[in-house]
Amino acid sequence: MRFSGLKILKEGLTGNKGWTKHWRNPEPKKEYDILIIGGGGHGLSTAYYLAKNHGLKNIAVLEKGYVGGGNVGRNTTIVRANYFLPGNSEFYSHSLKLWEGLEQDLNYNVMHSKRGLINLFHSDGQRDAFARRGNAMINQGDDAFLLDKEGVRDLLPYLDFEQTRFPIYGGLYHPRGGSARHDAVAWGYARGADTRGVDLIQNCEVTGIDIKQGRVTGVQTTRGSINAKKVGIVVAGRSGQLAAMAGMSLPIESHILQAFVTEGLKPCIDHVVSFGMGHFYISQSDKGGLVFGGDLDFYTSYAQRGNLPMKEHVMEAGMTLMPMIGKARVLRSWGGIMDMTPDGSPIIDKTGIEGLYIDCGWCYGGFKAVPASGYCFAHLMATDRYHEVASGFRLSRFKTGYGLIDEEGTGSQHNLH
Ligand SMILES: Cc1cc2nc3c(=O)[nH]c(=O)nc-3n(C[C@H](O)[C@H](O)[C@H](O)COP(=O)(O)OP(=O)(O)OC[C@H]3O[C@@H](n4cnc5c(N)ncnc54)[C@H](O)[C@@H]3O)c2cc1C
Repeated sequence: MRFSGLKILKEGLTGNKGWTKHWRNPEPKKEYDILIIGGGGHGLSTAYYLAKNHGLKNIAVLEKGYVGGGNVGRNTTIVRANYFLPGNSEFYSHSLKLWEGLEQDLNYNVMHSKRGLINLFHSDGQRDAFARRGNAMINQGDDAFLLDKEGVRDLLPYLDFEQTRFPIYGGLYHPRGGSARHDAVAWGYARGADTRGVDLIQNCEVTGIDIKQGRVTGVQTTRGSINAKKVGIVVAGRSGQLAAMAGMSLPIESHILQAFVTEGLKPCIDHVVSFGMGHFYISQSDKGGLVFGGDLDFYTSYAQRGNLPMKEHVMEAGMTLMPMIGKARVLRSWGGIMDMTPDGSPIIDKTGIEGLYIDCGWCYGGFKAVPASGYCFAHLMATDRYHEVASGFRLSRFKTGYGLIDEEGTGSQHNLH
């Protein structure tokens, strides 16, 4: 089923009876060429690009819950390419380009909106740091403009420019940054993969990984054992648990990140804005809710909910920056499990076990990475070669210390990135 204006018109006139299911609900086969563990954004995009770019067909995605029920459906939807360090810079640049063609590629409306991202700065030192970042972005071929205070006021007149504690000096403006509808991204990739013959097996938890003589041979699941020639672990916050099934220990900690949404309001915030002196960033969803978040809860956990101190911190930061949001009522808050690495950058790599690959460590920035992660991980799984824009994301860097990509410059503390 292809979506088009004509199809919508026809269905509208004929009682909407011609729409079919987005994907099948197949029983798992006994054997596949490739198994992807995890039906989140990264797992689904990997399966999609394995089929589309590499012509592979005998693939299954094994998801313990339902497709899109993990972090891909729990994030605050920010998409950007404003990274500073080589390694990250070219990867996220590649990802943003894939985002820009994604709806046509998937024939699916993921509501990608290039509304512009503005990172505010509040001191001379921060201005210098953002100027350097902006130059790095331009050198990479992406867009960046350094705004002064009046430039920010033109775009964001609702900020509190009078407060003296954290005066707004200016902002780094990234016009191609923005947001996308998170569920739709999962659904679009799921539909695209299914159309190309990938089996999406939901309610199928992987409970063990079979390894014989240093080579992966399949997995154990709640729906029986499944053989495979190659297996990819793509389970975000659960990466440590899956790796342990293969006898591996990862340099990853799982931490909670919370987010919040208010009741629907008339359009008032038409960019993505981040505060430079507290943990707070915000955008407005197409339904009108103000979607915002802050920092990690600072303790490790697998709970998909957070605690009150971080809620208070985020609300305080929001009120400091834009007191007008004090009038909005918060409808919901929730949390997701973030796979935090020691340098804040991800892992797309082979493991010491032949045929077993891993894609993880997305910290709290993995939504924007969904297209490029799937693209590059599929490349690695299909060809056994690293894609050039993801060649720095090696697991070995945490053992040797060589090639660390410490974007925030905070050292090896998982919860500070
Ligand atoms: C509150 C919040 C805000 C965020 N905001 C942003 C943002 O604005 N921009 C951005 O770029 N990133 C953001 N992120 C980060 C981003 O959401 C994640 O980095 C990314 O979604 C992780 O990859 P994924 O989509 O594949 O993960 P998931 O959707 O979590 O997919 C992993 C899947 O693996 C499945 N799984 C786990 N164990 C097993 C098993 N044993 N067997 C089978 N399946 C299993 C899970 O059920 C899950 O569906 C945010 C995250 C949170 C929580």
